[in-house]
Amino acid sequence: MSSVKPNHYKIHLEPDLERFTFEGTVEIYLDASEPTGEVSLNVLDLALWNCQVLLQGELKPCRFSVDPQKETVTILLPEKMQGDIAFAVTYTGKINNKMAGFYRSRYVLDGKERFMAVTQFEESDARRAFPCKDHPAEKATFDVEMVVGAAKVAVSNMPIEDEKDLGGGRKRIKFQRTPRMSTYLLFFGVGDFEFIEDPGEVLIRVATLPGVSEQGRFSLEFTRKALSFAEDYYGVRFPLPKLDLLAIADFAAGAMENWGAMTFRENLLLHDPETTSKAGEERICEVIAHELAHQWFGDLVTPEDWKYLWLNESFATFFGFHIVNHYYPEWDVWEHFLHGQTATALDRDGLRENFPIEIPGGDHVVINISTAPIIYNKGGSILRQVEGYVGSDRFRDGLRRYLKTHEYGCASSHDLWEALETVSAKPVAKMMENWIGQAGFPLVEVKREQDRLIFSQSRFTYLPGRWEQKWVIPLTVRIFFEDGKSELIETVLEDETLSVELQKGAAAYKVNDHQRGYYRVRYLEKENLGALGRRISEKSLGPVDRWGLQSDLYALVKRGDVRLSDYAAFLTYYVHEDAFLPLTTMAANLHHLYVVAGGAKADKIASIGAKLFEGALESMGYEPRDEDRHTTSILRDQLLWQAVLYGSEQAAAFARAKFSDLVRGGKVHPDIMRSVMQAGAFLEGEKAYGWLTARFQASPSEHERMNILVALGCFRQKELLERVQEYVLDQVPDRNKFVTIGALAENAHAIPALWPWYLSNQARFETFHPIHYERVLSVIIPYGGLVKEREVKDFFKTYLEKHTKAKDAIKLSLERLEIHARMRRAFNA
Ligand SMILES: [Zn+2]
Repeated sequence: MSSVKPNHYKIHLEPDLERFTFEGTVEIYLDASEPTGEVSLNVLDLALWNCQVLLQGELKPCRFSVDPQKETVTILLPEKMQGDIAFAVTYTGKINNKMAGFYRSRYVLDGKERFMAVTQFEESDARRAFPCKDHPAEKATFDVEMVVGAAKVAVSNMPIEDEKDLGGGRKRIKFQRTPRMSTYLLFFGVGDFEFIEDPGEVLIRVATLPGVSEQGRFSLEFTRKALSFAEDYYGVRFPLPKLDLLAIADFAAGAMENWGAMTFRENLLLHDPETTSKAGEERICEVIAHELAHQWFGDLVTPEDWKYLWLNESFATFFGFHIVNHYYPEWDVWEHFLHGQTATALDRDGLRENFPIEIPGGDHVVINISTAPIIYNKGGSILRQVEGYVGSDRFRDGLRRYLKTHEYGCASSHDLWEALETVSAKPVAKMMENWIGQAGFPLVEVKREQDRLIFSQSRFTYLPGRWEQKWVIPLTVRIFFEDGKSELIETVLEDETLSVELQKGAAAYKVNDHQRGYYRVRYLEKENLGALGRRISEKSLGPVDRWGLQSDLYALVKRGDVRLSDYAAFLTYYVHEDAFLPLTTMAANLHHLYVVAGGAKADKIASIGAKLFEGALESMGYEPRDEDRHTTSILRDQLLWQAVLYGSEQAAAFARAKFSDLVRGGKVHPDIMRSVMQAGAFLEGEKAYGWLTARFQASPSEHERMNILVALGCFRQKELLERVQEYVLDQVPDRNKFVTIGALAENAHAIPALWPWYLSNQARFETFHPIHYERVLSVIIPYGGLVKEREVKDFFKTYLEKHTKAKDAIKLSLERLEIHARMRRAFNA
């Protein structure tokens, strides 16, 4: 770190929403701890005109040189300076269309195309808007001032301090000074915003396009609740006077935690009773809770380096569920957590191409398709494990201590351990370092030898590898006795093996009780798996454990340890399954098998799926009902589509009738809207294409547009699928192109054309936002590459010799392709 630290920035901006340019002046106040002759700042895609330094009360011009490669400008001071240094830089920039830096977002108002200009700076795009020391540890205070059209609304992190009419249809807006904060959390935006607000000690507002602000009501009310929960739990008041939530149409990620001015994709903030499903509603709450948790974990206490980014994202992920669960316990969101977070993490973490949660320094330390499942999903899952280990009260006390100690400053993993150890008197650091500091996770293998259970651990990877890794595993085993009773054994597996005595009369044992631990289990004895299977079919095992057994077994199929026929046989224990968690995962696994296996095997899988899901739909009912459990509403949408896909005539008849209602302008319940549209495309072909694309252009709801984009990936006809490919590139906004591409990669009819499509449009795909380009590669390679493994591998071998673009995504996708190819060979052998 340099000896020159920023203290304060004064930013003046004049955006031009017609030419998409802005003029800026930034005054930067720094402190040099030793004499220095130059100051280096980050800058990207800005044209700097002038730089002056304040020297003995006078402004003196400075020479400067920009290095576009390093994204820096070096400013040469007229003489060596120490202590306070103040200088000003004037510059111009572009309001770009890259969804990064200071960028434009398109919308239509009164039939006219318009644009707003907003910022998205994480991790390192503040430098696209003003020259700065663009690193999270370089905290400073900010004064932001904007000159905008008189009819426009401007928003920043802080409330407006002063507004002045400049005449000529322009006004100057000055915002209050921010607290000390990192550059990546700064926000400013200008557009046609309309607000609804909830005054209170902290003013909460939701900003939308004119005419739809009432769709922000649901979020506004939830935010008030979540804020009071957070202040109470964290023991630190929200430090800013206001909190805005802004809906931004063009948005690369899902949402962003700018301090006091959180930004969201429209469908993650706006709630429209006609088109928002229960799943969508839950997602809105989770995302708001996630961004809200960041106001403390990230904004108030910031990682001292990006390698500690998990301190932001793991906590935000964890509290995204914790807070929602507090207000909506009937939603069973921790079940969703296991399926959406923990299972996703385990799947990513089973690759050889991998990182620990605390990612070693270097170019990997960015949020991308490769790191995100580790930092967010695995990190959140590990925090759940820590909470279990220290107890929920101590966990909360430790977090309070951590936040209080480091507020307005920065922290590392070590600071967190210290806080948790102080309050819990448990060796948290020892327990955690091997979960945070090493890649992967353990496979626990278990077998019975007379009256003992023998456990062993090794790293789980899908493809073979040699690892010398060990974990401190909090191990739980539920023992079932012949008389129907059960008992829990809790121990720690820290060596390679562990032997535990088994009581008399033990009939079966289930490892990882309630799936609290982050590891997979393999039962080396068939008899025990059979005995557990019987407990699945009679449902004496709870849904979470029923889920865990099936989920681990499928991972072992992917790993090549368990035969597909054995897995299929195990699924017969689930014939009467009616719980969300096991069903939703089985649906996902069967679909994965269906796509990967191909040929006659796929038909076999389809017939298993059709039977299972028809039964489940029958018992829950095809039509959504008010009294449905929340998870049932979500499950129905998934199972309905899959049952249609697998050839269920009953499901097809229901979905076809619903789709024709939709086409005739009738209403379909939002909780089955997606599956009805998918089924419409699948069953009706051409007719559905016309309706879906027309509706896509006309729809005012991003929730509905998202459903249409998924449905567009579900056609069977080659000619229609070619039209969809064109439609994606030409008609779908950049922010959402990846949605349909993802759906195409899940469609066995569309998969063969994916690779040729990629090859002939590669340059075009490369212009996508980096996160979206990675998403595209991460589905096109593992699925589109099937049956073309050699060609795809060779192509990227040459590619990676020349490019570093999307390197991590390519490597992990090639590994997934290898796993898929091996599965396909094994199934069809
Ligand atoms: Zn986050």
